[in-house]
Amino acid sequence: MEAELQRIKEEAEAALNAINEADSLEEFRVKYLGRKGMFTALMRNLGQAPKEERPRLGKLANDFKRTLEEVFAAKKSALTDTGSRRADKGRLDLTLPGRAVPFGKRHPVTQVMDEICSIFERLGFTVAEGPDIELDFYNFEGLNIPRHHPARDMHDTFYIDDNVLLRTHTSPMQVRSMEKAAPPLRMIAPGKVYRCDSDITHTPMFHQVEGFLVDRKVSFADLKGILAVFIAKMFDKKTAIRFRPSYFPFTEPSAEVDIACVICHGKGCRVCKQTGWLEILGAGLIDPAVFKKVNYDPEEYSGFAFGLGVERIAMLKYGITDIRLFYENDRRFLKQF
Ligand SMILES: [Zn+2]
Repeated sequence: MEAELQRIKEEAEAALNAINEADSLEEFRVKYLGRKGMFTALMRNLGQAPKEERPRLGKLANDFKRTLEEVFAAKKSALTDTGSRRADKGRLDLTLPGRAVPFGKRHPVTQVMDEICSIFERLGFTVAEGPDIELDFYNFEGLNIPRHHPARDMHDTFYIDDNVLLRTHTSPMQVRSMEKAAPPLRMIAPGKVYRCDSDITHTPMFHQVEGFLVDRKVSFADLKGILAVFIAKMFDKKTAIRFRPSYFPFTEPSAEVDIACVICHGKGCRVCKQTGWLEILGAGLIDPAVFKKVNYDPEEYSGFAFGLGVERIAMLKYGITDIRLFYENDRRFLKQF
């Protein structure tokens, strides 16, 4: 009887030592310590031992059981401790580094537009924004483009009705600003413009920045100076520029401004059609007819205005050959900026 007791105790201790996960612990408890376990059976069998032996054997069995229960409890707490730590890992481990969330970035067109604005802001220009849906007066009439003027054909306008349209340029902000305030004015107007046109260099919606300055004794030299600073900041200090005579109804004289080709630096290539030059904006001195529309005295004030296409500048700056790439929302393209 005593030998049997000793054997079970040793077996139980060995089994307990071998256990290294919480699930097996429960199996062990049922097998040895449970109500139908081996110790209970052993105690029940004590009745068969000689009467004088029973108290001693009973005490011995109880001591064994208590020892085993203590070891079991210690093992259990150790195992559930690591077990719960392991289970925690599946849910939330505060010691792990965070999972990186992919950051969005500003669209290249927005980046370039902000850069343009910031250059002019440093030159003392304030930023003004106006409505995309515009009245005919601000888009055309006020800018010296009366109805049936041939210049209207160049604009491929989206009309909403006879008098309302999607603005074809950001120049309406010139008229709106001059209407509201007296000179001196020094403003830029960035925003979306719309023309019914679509190919590799045109989209029906694109971005423009209009700039103008009105004061006493403003000359073409002031315009040249401001644009030279802008181009040096936007591209490269050494970028050559040239002014070509041109025509716009709202400026006189008017010019188109070219920069030396950013690809071949003036030697001639496919992008600049072998000319060595790329057109980047239109500009000129504000036509006195425009001043008259807003009751500015053209004898007292003069000013210049310029308008540049943001996509065009972005394409030249980054060597992008198809304007439609800006609007396809392909992340592989957008990620590069
Ligand atoms: Zn070139």
